Amino acid sequence: MDELHIEIGDLPPECEDLRPKVRAFAKKHLKNFSRVQRAHNWSGRDIEFSKKMASQGWLGMTWPKEFGGAGKSMLERYVMLEELLAVGAPMGAHWAADRQMGPLLIRYSEDRLAPKIVPEILRGEAFICIGMSEPDSGSDLASIRTRGSKVEGGWKINGRKVWTSGAHHAHYMVALVRTNDSEGNRHAGMSQFFIEMDSPGITVRPIVSQLGTRIFNEVVLDDVFVPDDHLIGVEGKGWDQVTNELKLERSGAERFLSSTQLLLEMLDEANPDNPQQTVSIGKVIARYATLRQMSQGIALMISKGEDPSLAASVVKDQGALLEQSLPDIAYELFPEKLGDGSEFDQVLNFITLAAPSFSLRGGTREILRSIIAKGLGLR
Ligand SMILES: Cc1cc2nc3c(=O)[nH]c(=O)nc-3n(C[C@H](O)[C@H](O)[C@H](O)COP(=O)(O)OP(=O)(O)OC[C@H]3O[C@@H](n4cnc5c(N)ncnc54)[C@H](O)[C@@H]3O)c2cc1C
Repeated sequence: MDELHIEIGDLPPECEDLRPKVRAFAKKHLKNFSRVQRAHNWSGRDIEFSKKMASQGWLGMTWPKEFGGAGKSMLERYVMLEELLAVGAPMGAHWAADRQMGPLLIRYSEDRLAPKIVPEILRGEAFICIGMSEPDSGSDLASIRTRGSKVEGGWKINGRKVWTSGAHHAHYMVALVRTNDSEGNRHAGMSQFFIEMDSPGITVRPIVSQLGTRIFNEVVLDDVFVPDDHLIGVEGKGWDQVTNELKLERSGAERFLSSTQLLLEMLDEANPDNPQQTVSIGKVIARYATLRQMSQGIALMISKGEDPSLAASVVKDQGALLEQSLPDIAYELFPEKLGDGSEFDQVLNFITLAAPSFSLRGGTREILRSIIAKGLGLR
């Protein structure tokens, strides 16, 4: 059996220098933010907050300076993010653009799309949605049916994407599309396109989640024209590109820091003389501490150019398990808070309804475990 090795070390001084700056920034700009708003965490959306982060150089923080990025290390980005996630900062507007689309464009469209779009992302003005999943193609992404057909000067795209988070606010979508029949190789013949959301032929319809709000959408593409220079990377190589993108999507601290507000509520409410509360919450914090070290180790792996897939899958799987266990722990430890209308109660309600999605978005538990099994040489 292969082994999972994650190097854990101290953070370099520039990271610890950054930490108080991020704390002061969050304190200043989130002072009017309620506890319930904070519970939304990185799925919360606030354009002004995104722009304020941009003005600090915290969007595209690790991107090369020649593209306007701050050229900082992955560990500095890790610290900036963990500080903001820990206090429930609203980062949903710029999230996909900053985490994965900017790096994708810099890597695969450095001469064409990156020079135009990356500056927009860095200013907090370009929000991008992820067009991967389709009806009947979620975990089995290679079975997508949205199709791109070559026409003069570009491509015509037809198909349907679902669960597209933020499509109703996004300026652009990066869509995975079939441009060629796979001829026996399921992973061949797919391509990625950069699509302007105001293109004729795009219809965005809401999908209301069990939270009762519109987070994601169905996006119908009906003969949408996309110019040749909006093909990202190489035609037919979309699978390899998307696999690299998913590594970034699964590797961050957001995979165990999306319901911190509920932990904070429990800490506020806990009575230090109550052994059941101190033991249960202590165990939760020990699990957080372990995940934090592993997640920091993943940031180090990415900065060294190592493949984080196996380690990131472990942290995402264990992070979702921990976060999904919090509502039950809160119900057990603080039954008197149930239905009392307090902020604790409202945060608990929100996390109870949101938590099932933590082991779906970005790859389901079963899919991650199959990546882990492969990575460990077990299948
Ligand atoms: C909050 C949220 C936001 C999302 N945002 C986006 C977005 O912005 N863009 C986007 O493209 N998608 C998005 N998604 C979609 C998400 O990526 C998919 O839901 C996910 O990949 C699972 O696909 P599916 O829903 O089609 O489920 P399915 O693939 O149908 O899976 C159903 C069940 O079967 C299991 N299963 C499937 N295949 C296997 C297998 N081979 N072995 C074992 N078990 C298996 C799964 O683990 C799951 O439990 C979002 C989802 C959520 C919940």
